[in-house]
Amino acid sequence: MSNRSRRPLSRRAFLGALAGAAATARFAAPSKKKTGSRIHVAVVGAGAFGGFTAAELLRRGARVTLIDAWGPGNARASSGGETRVIRGVYGADRIYTEMAARAFRLWHEYEVRWKRPFYRRTGALWLIGDDGAYVRSSLPILRDNGFAYEELAIADASKRFPQIDFSGITSTLFEKEAGYLLARRACAQVVEGFTADGGSYRVAAVTPGAIASGRLDGLKLSDATTLTADAYVFACGPWLPKVFPELLRETIQPTRQEVFYFGTPAGERTFDEDRFPVWVEVPRFFYGIPGNERRGFKIADDGRGAPFDPTDGDRIASAEGLKAARDYIARRFPALANAPLLETRVCQYENSLDHHFVIDRHPGAENAWIVGGGSGHGFKHGPAVGEIAARAVLGERAPDRLFSLSRPRTASA
Ligand SMILES: Cc1cc2nc3c(=O)[nH]c(=O)nc-3n(C[C@H](O)[C@H](O)[C@H](O)COP(=O)(O)OP(=O)(O)OC[C@H]3O[C@@H](n4cnc5c(N)ncnc54)[C@H](O)[C@@H]3O)c2cc1C
Repeated sequence: MSNRSRRPLSRRAFLGALAGAAATARFAAPSKKKTGSRIHVAVVGAGAFGGFTAAELLRRGARVTLIDAWGPGNARASSGGETRVIRGVYGADRIYTEMAARAFRLWHEYEVRWKRPFYRRTGALWLIGDDGAYVRSSLPILRDNGFAYEELAIADASKRFPQIDFSGITSTLFEKEAGYLLARRACAQVVEGFTADGGSYRVAAVTPGAIASGRLDGLKLSDATTLTADAYVFACGPWLPKVFPELLRETIQPTRQEVFYFGTPAGERTFDEDRFPVWVEVPRFFYGIPGNERRGFKIADDGRGAPFDPTDGDRIASAEGLKAARDYIARRFPALANAPLLETRVCQYENSLDHHFVIDRHPGAENAWIVGGGSGHGFKHGPAVGEIAARAVLGERAPDRLFSLSRPRTASA
C-alpha cells in the first residue's frame, strides 16, 4: 500500500469522504448467500476487539452471533470509558503505527457508514523528559505511514501552549492527526450497526463447552441454552484468563488503573479541546485528554497498577493515586493547581506479559480463536484488530506472529 493511501484522513478529507463512494462500496450489505452456505461465527465479547471482529466478519459474508454478559462498552469493560487516545507514535514498534494508520482509516469509514462521529482531532503533544529515544525512533515510521508531526522547540511550544510549565522537558513532538475517540459510545454503535446489518446480538454470560478431538463443541449461555457455531471468537478482554484459566492465567493479567477528571476554572477556555491537545509525558507516561466533552480535564498514569478482578474489583480510586495526579497537574499545568476533582474511574488494563496483542487460534481447538491482550493501548486499534481477526477466522490471512500465543513470553518494560 502506498504511503498516501495509508495516510490518516484529515477532518476535511473525512467530511469530503461522507459524500464519497469508496466507503459505501466497502460497506455494501453483507453478501446474501443462503444462510445454509454461510459460515456461522459466535463472537463472545462486544468491546472494541469483539465488536469490530463481529462487524468485519459480517461484512465479509459470515453469519455472526455476538454475545456479551453486560453489553457493549459496559462500565466494567476495558472499552467502557468515555474517551480513549488515538495516536501514531509507538517507538520502534512499526506494526502498531501501521495498525494505527489502518485503524484511522477504518474509524473514518465506520463514521461515514453510521453517520456518527467518534474521532475528535486535537493533536497530541509529547512532553519528553529523557533523551527522547522512544519518540525519535518512531519518526521514520510515522513518515512512512503518512502521520504528520512537528518537532517544536521548547520556546515555541511554550508560546503555543502557555498553559504548560515545561520544567524538566527537554524536547517535544506534536502529532497533528492524533486525538481521542468516544469509547463506550462507539462500542454501542458497533452493536447497533451490526444488528442493523443483520448480525444477531444476545446478552448472556458465556462458558466455553468441551474441547474434544481438537474442536470446541459449543457455548453454554447463562440463560441455560447452548449455542453451536462453525467457529468461535473469544474477545473477553480482561476476563480472558477467567474464561480459559489453564491457557491464559499466565499470559493475560488485568491490572487496576485509575483515571481522574479535574474541573477547569469558570469561564476559562484555555483547556478546551480546540485550544489544548491530548498530551503524553514520557518517560513517566502520565497522559490526558483536555476538554473531554466537558467532563473535566482527564489525567491518568499509564504505569501498571495492582492485579484486579474485572467482575468484583472495588472501583473507588485511591488517596495515593489522587495525590499523585494532583501533584502532577499542579506542577505541569499551574492554572489547575487547586482544581476540584469532578470524577474518578477505576478501570483495568488487560495486559499481556510483553504488552503485545493476542490474535491466535486456541492451541487445543482449531475452531476457537482468542483476541485480546490490548494491554492499555488496544482501543484505537479496534477496527484494525477486527479486520485481522476476521481474516484469520475466515482463513484469508494469518495474523502476524507477534500476536501468537506461542511467541516467546518475556515481560517488557
Ligand atoms: C483507564 C484506561 C485507559 C485506556 N486508554 C487507552 C487509550 O487512551 N487508547 C487506547 O487505544 N487504549 C486505551 N486503553 C485500552 C483499551 O481500552 C483496551 O485495550 C480495549 O478497550 C480492550 O478491548 P476488549 O474488547 O479487548 O475488552 P473489553 O472492552 O473489556 O471487552 C470485553 C467484553 O467481553 C465481555 N465478556 C467478558 N467475559 C464474558 C463472558 N464470559 N461472556 C460474555 N461476555 C463476556 C465483557 O462484558 C466486555 O464487554 C485504556 C484502558 C483503560 C482501562
